[in-house]
Amino acid sequence: MAKKPASGKLTYYFGKTKTEGKGLGKILLGGKGINLAEMTSIGLPVPPGFTISTEVCAEYYGFGKKLPANLMDDVTKNVRMLEKELGKKFGDNQNPLLVSVRSGAAVSMPGMMNTILNLGLNDVSTAGLATATGNERFAYDAYRRLINMFGDVVMGIDHEHFEHAFDKIKKMCKTDMDTKVPAEGLKQLCEDYKAIYKKHTGEAFPQDPMKQLEKAIEAVFKSWMANKAVKYREIENIRGLAGTAVNVQSMVYGNMGDDSGTGVAFTRNPSTGENKFFGEFLINAQGEDVVAGIRTPQPTEEMPKWNKAAYKQLMEIKDTLEKHYREMQDIEFTIEKGKLYMLQTRTGKRTGMAAVKIACDMVKEKLIDEPTAVLRVPAGDLTQLLLPSFKPSAWEKATKIARGLPASPGAAVGRLAFTAEDAKERSVKGEKVILIRKETSPEDVDGMHAAAGILTSTGGMTSHAAVVARGWGRCCVAGAGEVKIDAKAKKATINGKTYNEKSLFSINGSTGEVAEGEIETQPASLSGDFNKLMKWADEYRTMKIRTNADSPEDSERAREFGAQGIGLCRTEHMFFGGERTRAIREMILSSDEGSRRKALAKLLPYQRDDFIGIFTAMKGLPVTIRLLDPPLHEFVPHDEKGQKELATEMGLKPAEIKSRVESLHEFNPMLGHRGCRLSITYPEILEMQVRAIVEAAIECKNKKIDVLPEIMIPLVGTKTELSLLRRKTEETIELVKKEKQVKGKLDILIGTMIEVPRAALTADEIATEADFFSFGTNDLTQMTFGFSRDDINSFLPDYLRQDILTVDPFQSLDVSGVGQLVEMACKKGRQTKKDLKLGICGEHGGDPASVEFCHNVGLDYVSCSPFRVPIARLAAAQAALRARKAKK
Ligand code: ADP
Ligand code: MG
Ligand code: MG
Repeated sequence: MAKKPASGKLTYYFGKTKTEGKGLGKILLGGKGINLAEMTSIGLPVPPGFTISTEVCAEYYGFGKKLPANLMDDVTKNVRMLEKELGKKFGDNQNPLLVSVRSGAAVSMPGMMNTILNLGLNDVSTAGLATATGNERFAYDAYRRLINMFGDVVMGIDHEHFEHAFDKIKKMCKTDMDTKVPAEGLKQLCEDYKAIYKKHTGEAFPQDPMKQLEKAIEAVFKSWMANKAVKYREIENIRGLAGTAVNVQSMVYGNMGDDSGTGVAFTRNPSTGENKFFGEFLINAQGEDVVAGIRTPQPTEEMPKWNKAAYKQLMEIKDTLEKHYREMQDIEFTIEKGKLYMLQTRTGKRTGMAAVKIACDMVKEKLIDEPTAVLRVPAGDLTQLLLPSFKPSAWEKATKIARGLPASPGAAVGRLAFTAEDAKERSVKGEKVILIRKETSPEDVDGMHAAAGILTSTGGMTSHAAVVARGWGRCCVAGAGEVKIDAKAKKATINGKTYNEKSLFSINGSTGEVAEGEIETQPASLSGDFNKLMKWADEYRTMKIRTNADSPEDSERAREFGAQGIGLCRTEHMFFGGERTRAIREMILSSDEGSRRKALAKLLPYQRDDFIGIFTAMKGLPVTIRLLDPPLHEFVPHDEKGQKELATEMGLKPAEIKSRVESLHEFNPMLGHRGCRLSITYPEILEMQVRAIVEAAIECKNKKIDVLPEIMIPLVGTKTELSLLRRKTEETIELVKKEKQVKGKLDILIGTMIEVPRAALTADEIATEADFFSFGTNDLTQMTFGFSRDDINSFLPDYLRQDILTVDPFQSLDVSGVGQLVEMACKKGRQTKKDLKLGICGEHGGDPASVEFCHNVGLDYVSCSPFRVPIARLAAAQAALRARKAKK
């Protein structure tokens, strides 16, 4: 196949002659390329060079892995320009120009391709370099490095062969240090390296510098599709990039003696955010030596002792860079014979804590304004400030034994507990335990609450364990497949090793990793800066933030985090524990309405007290209470022992209990007898719950506590379901009011969840019966995709790997599918009722991307677990600011 010429502009020069790339963006020039151009254009000392655009990489693959025909002509023109600017010549025997070849995509991808330094050296120009520098040793050291790097990176020769040859030379020179090998030894080494090169490639080391350059450029393009690069993009969810750019840059030498060196630094401290230069440098070193860990670098604070002028210049450059980018930078620099050069700058990665501090400091320093500060902090990173975490240095050294999903962030250390009862019992005695289960069920909540952390071997990000744990801010790793659990024997096996109740685990809910032993943790700390940032966020957001909470403690915590109401209070969580469990079981297993009502009467005081507690904690903020939702079989005992106990209590035969439990069996419980369907069959359940709500509201009113209850009817699919249950609800409210002789107003809204696709489709009809809609996006996603949210983990990894889905739709709302239903229901609902209140209460309410969608479709609020309230506040502000920008 003949080579085809590429269409557009291929290369962009940066230097004193001209700087072409300025302002063209990293999508075209890669992050490294665009910043080299920017730094050059603001007058910083950058060795000149040129960037081959990412489009050329795309054409390389488009042309069947061939460089465009006109590329090397263009490259040659640029090299001539470099020669002219620097007064050196490529391949010259007097004063040769050398270059580095550096990869650089729009997104930084560590380890994609090793940089090749000193390119342009051959037998002739090495001699030239020796003459020009008066340093023969330096010249042959550079040449042997080039043959090694080029052979390794471009031609794939195993590095070992070169090392082996070097060892021989060192022995010959009677030293074991590279730096002690004299010029003669290095000269010999270059000959040996060339022989190795020839032996493994079948051709001589290219003496033509242009040939070297062509091959190196092609190697960079090839590295874009190398396994490790593809894998990295997959893991980091990096999509839609054309390819990598290639930077060809004239060399400067940090290894020319003790007046030279190289370093890396952050313009501010990346872990704390402190406004203090933070870096390391090495004297007489080149390239990757600092990060390679061969020699121990010194902190940059020591630099003034070595070269005061260069340090002062570096500090000035730091300020210039921060003023230009208005951002914390991560830089690479080299000092050649006392003269400072900048080789790279980019936005510095930082912890959540540092992000908050830097944003606030930069407002104070007038580098950025408040909206920019609000936009700068990744909302999801706030989690790091709210929960305890493992000390990074300790975690790095820990022995990791398994990996699951980061289901609920935080850090937990404890000994294994194999049942919920054990977990509870042992923690009451003061032991720290990790509850380890195949999966959890509502029966386990007591034990889950008692445990320091939860580890499951199956289940996804919205499995029971994950949802419940997130609600409490309890650390949870879910779906760690390598963990094989034998709960009966109280043993777990991981990769052949067996663990028991005495085993200590540390689980990292932020990464999904599991480690052996006790790893040191650090507590969360909320700073004044955090509060400042949240205050700004509250000024810019237009959506309200509510929380999902079902206990007074959670409600209180959520209010402290800034929740403006409860968007979802799940009443089923109130049916667990002691007498409550007994009563609900009795109710479910009763055979007639009379006994059911008797059992419900026992539950009433508990529910009422719970509501009083929650209303009191919320101090007049709205509280949305969902009527009983899950299928009834979730509440009854399935094991023989439990059934026997229950039989004794109820005065029935165990066989009777067993057969009633069995009669509750459903093939698809999530599509079965649950939600509003329960209240259709057993209206007395609704009556009891509504009564509890109204009685609690009245009692609070009498105590001068403001209340705003909102009764939410779940899983509605037709208008008639809702109208029937609404009437029942209203009747009960009136009845209780009359009983309690309430004269004044008692505001109670009645609304529904939109979680069945049919409800979204007929939202205009349903709205006639509803005061509010709350999108239950967990079920809505489940039913729109037809994915069981409890079983998705068996195939989701394949879907993600093959790009069928880009994210778990239970974590981040599927905007183009499920989102259409939400948007449509909003429009249709408000067509019927202009002031219909709209909110969302699925797990998506705490996901920044989903929050942005909610803002854009005009929801009044999002509701999420207490620990995600600050995240949602910030995300809502960012959504509002971005929408405002887009309008302008
Ligand atoms: P990475 O993307 O892995 O950081 P770089 O392309 O930045 O790779 O190169 C690694 C190191 O090589 C740089 O930090 C710098 O020290 C050195 N280097 C690259 N180009 C040059 C050059 N033209 N002159 C001197 N050193 C260079
Ligand atoms: Mg670099
Ligand atoms: Mg639901």
